[in-house]
Amino acid sequence: MSSIVLFGPPGAGKGTQAQRITGHTGYPQISTGDMLRAAVTAATPVGLEAKSFMEQGLLVPDQVIIDLIADRLKHDDAKSGVMFDGFPRTVPQAQALSSIIQISHVIAIDVPDDAIVERICGRITCGTCGTVYHERFQPVPKDGCSCGNYVESRRSDDNEEVVRSRLETYHSQTSPLADYYINKGIFHKIDGHRNIDEITSEILSILS
Ligand code: ADP
Ligand code: ADP
Repeated sequence: MSSIVLFGPPGAGKGTQAQRITGHTGYPQISTGDMLRAAVTAATPVGLEAKSFMEQGLLVPDQVIIDLIADRLKHDDAKSGVMFDGFPRTVPQAQALSSIIQISHVIAIDVPDDAIVERICGRITCGTCGTVYHERFQPVPKDGCSCGNYVESRRSDDNEEVVRSRLETYHSQTSPLADYYINKGIFHKIDGHRNIDEITSEILSILS
């Protein structure tokens, strides 16, 4: 089994691209951010531990994340490969992952910091199906979300103050991980500061 990692700063478009690409690869999208938010909502022990880190834009401790992923990868739908979105975010997470599964491609979506704040502060999500939209850049269609039951949802950490902290965390703790994957020869950097369709096409051509 070989799997894909979508890598990049908060708001780079990892989730947006993952939702478009899973249909082509057949790999399920595994987002540690989504898993953690579900755990916070359900007030599980993991959620209770993660909540304050997430509110401050800090990383949740590696061991919590590694255990979460190890459990998730035991599910049947993960047997032939998965698409990670927002994981791994540190070198220890990547090292732990390498002992469980093989990564074939790391797609790094590159977006300058000044574009990130605007993307994050305008992000909206359908609370029913999880489709990601943007107030200006990717508006909800006039006839509503394709799931038929659009409910607008916004993340509590999608505000300017927490975004600045998430960007700092990204530059200090996550971007050093690029070298780890560059050294393995599987790192593909793409320009994420352009049209969503163009980015999807480039990712699909890399994967083929
Ligand atoms: P991430 O998963 O990397 O945090 P998202 O996929 O949630 O990022 O995208 C963040 C926000 O930016 C969303 O509101 C999304 O609609 C918007 N977005 C994604 N890709 C682009 C793009 N290429 N151009 C403009 N806006 C985008
Ligand atoms: P983003 O839109 O910033 O890419 P995510 O939804 O991926 O956001 O993550 C939201 C928050 O969840 C992060 O700010 C962090 O606190 C936590 N988180 C998500 N994935 C990880 C991870 N792999 N390691 C540590 N913390 C994580």
